[in-house]
Amino acid sequence: MTNIQQNIATVRERIQLSCHKADRNSDDVTLLAVSKTVSAENIKLAVAAGQRDFGENYIAEGVEKIITLAAETAQHNLQWHCIGPVQSNKTRLVAQHFDWVHTVDRLKIAERLNEQRPADAKRLQVCIQVNIDNSPSKSGVAPDEVLALAQEIAKLPRLQLRGIMAIPDIPISTQGNFAMNNIAIEAVYTPARVLFEHLNALNYDIDTLSIGMSADLEPAIQSGSTMVRVGSAIFGSRA
Ligand SMILES: *Cc1c(COP(=O)(O)O)cnc(C)c1O
Repeated sequence: MTNIQQNIATVRERIQLSCHKADRNSDDVTLLAVSKTVSAENIKLAVAAGQRDFGENYIAEGVEKIITLAAETAQHNLQWHCIGPVQSNKTRLVAQHFDWVHTVDRLKIAERLNEQRPADAKRLQVCIQVNIDNSPSKSGVAPDEVLALAQEIAKLPRLQLRGIMAIPDIPISTQGNFAMNNIAIEAVYTPARVLFEHLNALNYDIDTLSIGMSADLEPAIQSGSTMVRVGSAIFGSRA
């Protein structure tokens, strides 16, 4: 096994253990491998280990790899997730090449993605990025604006609203230390889950709570994450 394949096995074990502790089914948590700065060759190693969902932050870089890996994508039904900021001038590339976008935080971007999504493609799967800790430095809609944006996105026929995504302002590195989890949960994850459940209670029929990264996937899963976005624990540190 290569390191990447070994790392994927280790991350899957962490997910399983966390699900077990939280009394959840590990099939309900999708592992999204964050492949920013990672070569197409290394992505193929992850595919060989059974990995199917990949997240890219930088749109031009991501599109280049999506095109390079078109044969693998078709063969294994790989799913490409845009998890980086989307400016207006990049919406067309996202709409044409990605399957998911986690970072929709304003209506104008959603409308452009809807207009530009090719007619023969599946609907673009969308998460609203929430600025859960009201950080001034970070993108994402304020929690009290999520509902209004969800209402508008639900009207756009080429988009499918799947859920919400959040990035904690201060990444809480619990490193699998369950004693640290409660702090992380209180700060970030419970508010995210409350919003997610609120939208579901309003019949938005969403299934995705995109929270948790390499260092904090345990508390995220304990709080109801359905998709963890893991980069360095799979592909090594980005230096
Ligand atoms: C880079 C990145 C990740 C992965 O972070 P790691 O700490 O390497 O697991 C997850 N989500 C987003 C939005 C990122 O930019």
